[in-house]
Amino acid sequence: MAYDFDLFVIGAGSGGVRAARFAAGFGAKVAVAESRYLGGTCVNVGCVPKKLLVYGAHVADELEQAAGFGWTLEDGHFDWGTLIANKNREIERLNGIYRNLLVNSGVSLLQGHARITGANEVEVDGQRYSAEHILIATGGWPQVPDIPGKELAITSNEAFYLKDLPRRVLVVGGGYIAVEFAGIFQGLGADTTLLYRGDLFLRGFDGSVRTHLKEELEKRGLDLQFNADIQRIDKLDDGSLKATLKDGRELVAESVFYATGRRPMLDNLGLENTGVELDERGYIRVDAQYQTTAPSILAIGDVIGRVQLTPVALAEGMAVARRLFKPEQYRPVDYQNIPTAVFSQPPIGTVGLSEEQALEAGHKVQVFESRFRAMKLTLTDIQEKTLMKLVVDAETDKVLGCHMVGPDAGEIVQGLGIALKAGATKQQFDETIGVHPTAAEEFVTMRTVTR
Ligand code: FAD
Ligand code: NDP
Repeated sequence: MAYDFDLFVIGAGSGGVRAARFAAGFGAKVAVAESRYLGGTCVNVGCVPKKLLVYGAHVADELEQAAGFGWTLEDGHFDWGTLIANKNREIERLNGIYRNLLVNSGVSLLQGHARITGANEVEVDGQRYSAEHILIATGGWPQVPDIPGKELAITSNEAFYLKDLPRRVLVVGGGYIAVEFAGIFQGLGADTTLLYRGDLFLRGFDGSVRTHLKEELEKRGLDLQFNADIQRIDKLDDGSLKATLKDGRELVAESVFYATGRRPMLDNLGLENTGVELDERGYIRVDAQYQTTAPSILAIGDVIGRVQLTPVALAEGMAVARRLFKPEQYRPVDYQNIPTAVFSQPPIGTVGLSEEQALEAGHKVQVFESRFRAMKLTLTDIQEKTLMKLVVDAETDKVLGCHMVGPDAGEIVQGLGIALKAGATKQQFDETIGVHPTAAEEFVTMRTVTR
């Protein structure tokens, strides 16, 4: 049977665009449908605008440090409207680049909501298209717990477009987004409280990293409240919001920002017309090659809920394009040792196993840990400490994990990711000559076993 397209991609986000472009480059006839914004979450309401706001907040640190280097600055003034307008201009530029990438690679771009109407059929704005393969790359959406007043809360989607910076904000959650936005709001001058339901935020990260970041955020004056959970939110007469906690306490703020995880975006996708099954967490179930339980339908990215990071969605998109249209180049995605950064202030960079995960996996573990005041701060009054940590297998000498909290952690950990992928040993780390004077050289000069 002749289909309209070889591949119909639903969602022009990180994974969908990568799969569509490369499939078209391999000679396939490809369409991609996008209902909202080209580039998806990462470009529009994720990684990119988030990092721009993080840079904005970080300027406050530079200004604070300036006096130590002899600079006298007039009273600084921050204007949220300017930052958001400049950010929006950059996002629009990127939207245009994504459009050109798709169109120039020969992909048919359909702007509208796509709904699957059969195993090989998709409907966009009343028009039906047939395709040999359908790829679901619809991403995720913020999830706010079902409490009275939840409609008064905002999520990352809205935060990027706030008219004004709230003077006082409650950030709810203890994952990537909560920690990053707490740093953004506080860095830009909002009186910020982070509320997390457990004992310590960033569950799953290395224990030293979690404790170290907690201490550094507290030094910066961020109000961290653990074992705290909101029961209801009410609007007060003056327009501010009152959050009543489960323990009865009441907190008043201009804005309540929820970052309590993301659900897969399956709204009106028509899965009931297919044999696509969901897993126990509600994400699309796929096999090792991103095949759903319906033979003609594949899924990648946040909607499969494996590792919700843009570079992972890109790798999955590439794997699908190759498997379908260039099988001789197919290589499975390696989910081991994925480097990642949390762009908190100070940031976290991490790759490989945490100390806890290494012990749980049965490794005999040697830990090398170093805490120091970065050279840049020695001419200032700032007492911030950087943490670096190596988790090593005592029997094989293989480095199992590298963890850092401190300036440029995300930049530094990318290179360490290559070392871990290559199976580097602690001895090879030790034999690597440092770059002096940098913070990163500490990773190749830690000699004393801490534990
Ligand atoms: P998405 O990028 O979400 O794309 C899905 C697309 O599908 C969207 O454009 C959507 O409009 C479209 N769509 C959905 N349903 C339909 C439909 N029925 N019809 C047509 N179109 C549809 N990751 C990092 O690696 N680094 C970071 O620093 C980082 N920061 C983040 C910050 C925030 C605030 C958030 C929310 C996420 C962040 N992420 C980060 C995660 C990253 O954005 C996601 O992992 C990534 O975007 C997932 O790509 P995707 O292709 O699966 O989905
Ligand atoms: P995460 O899954 O990282 O964190 C969710 C947080 O919310 C956890 O602390 C969780 O607590 C808490 N939580 C969940 N449900 C509730 C509830 N009902 N009440 C109170 N607290 C709750 O999600 P995020 O929204 O922060 O981010 C989504 C994903 O996006 C990340 O996991 C990451 O993959 C990606 N991302 C990546 C970034 C980067 O690379 N820098 C930046 C931003 C996002 P608990 O731990 O107790 O379950």
